[in-house]
Amino acid sequence: MTGPLGAAAGRGGDGGGPGDLRDLRGRPLRDLRVSVTDRCNFRCAYCMPRELFGADHAFLDRGDLLAFDEVEELVRAAVDLGVTTVHLTGGEPLLRPGLPDLVARLAAIGGLDLAMTTNGVLLPRHAAALAAAGLDRVTVSLDAIDDAVFRRASDSPYGASAVLAGIDAARAAGFGDVKVNAVVRRGVNEHQVVPLVEHFRGTGHVLRFIEFMDVGATNGWTDAEVVPAAEVLAAIGARWPLEDLPVRRYGETARRLRLVDGSAEIGVISSVSTPFCGTCTRARVTAEGRIHTCLFSTGGTDARALLRGPRRPGDLAELLSGLWGNRSDRYSEIRAEVRASGTRRAAPVEMSYIGG
Ligand code: SAM
Repeated sequence: MTGPLGAAAGRGGDGGGPGDLRDLRGRPLRDLRVSVTDRCNFRCAYCMPRELFGADHAFLDRGDLLAFDEVEELVRAAVDLGVTTVHLTGGEPLLRPGLPDLVARLAAIGGLDLAMTTNGVLLPRHAAALAAAGLDRVTVSLDAIDDAVFRRASDSPYGASAVLAGIDAARAAGFGDVKVNAVVRRGVNEHQVVPLVEHFRGTGHVLRFIEFMDVGATNGWTDAEVVPAAEVLAAIGARWPLEDLPVRRYGETARRLRLVDGSAEIGVISSVSTPFCGTCTRARVTAEGRIHTCLFSTGGTDARALLRGPRRPGDLAELLSGLWGNRSDRYSEIRAEVRASGTRRAAPVEMSYIGG
């Protein structure tokens, strides 16, 4: 192994112990986000703008995607290095045929918290099979509660009601309370923050507001479009007093709060205004098997070539531990300098490949 072992052991709070793999900043590897497709049935302007992801866009061929046995092998290697949570994402993960088979394979590894992030509209068709296969949690993206605003934001024929039906299907399938994520963009949906809270109060579902981030190079990000978490909380707090909830685990991305009247839990994910790189425990695998140790990175490392070529036992573990052990990413903390220097604009990975 090339990574420093136990560099931060003993500082507590991160669930680690002696012998744990750490990166150059002492952060353990805990979460793996696996994109299973680059296709999506939405064309959200901030993620897959239709001008660039239109009818003539060349999506990956089936054979380019990691096969389920390749994903399983990768996840098993990551689990051996400390991963405890696996998040399936996309594109839209429910567009990947046979997804419950992959879930069943990963559930069979044992001891994993297995989650999926989806836009939700296909959940009525798939939620029961995913629950039966062993999926533990579902996170659903929903940027507006108003049908017209939602249609515009997602550039899709679906209204918010189609996503709400998906959330209901998830609950009926046994997933219980789901996390509902809304990306807030100035001039697009910031007026939906309070109506979203109004809608989800009393349901048990946890609503989380995400700052618009400069992932990829196709969404025309400017910081003027970012609605800082503080502003979101001020809008909610003006209507319902809020109080902070305790941090549950090291590396938690959301600051958690609740309405003082107890009717809802709220979260804010503020990667732009309050970066949390210092406790980032996530690695990401794109649909074609490139590993990224930062959501904002360029390039990535090709694990598929290794998975498809001749190799010795331990090669995959060595690749992963080498990547993590040499990791020093902290893009969100140095965003302003990097953007000013222009260096990152080479080829940052797109959200539809890496999945958030
Ligand atoms: N299709 C699935 C979904 O809708 O959840 C999974 C993939 S999608 C890329 C994952 C999440 O990333 C969604 O909640 C989406 O809104 C969010 N997202 C995409 N681009 C983003 C950006 N530039 N900044 C913040 N969040 C973004």
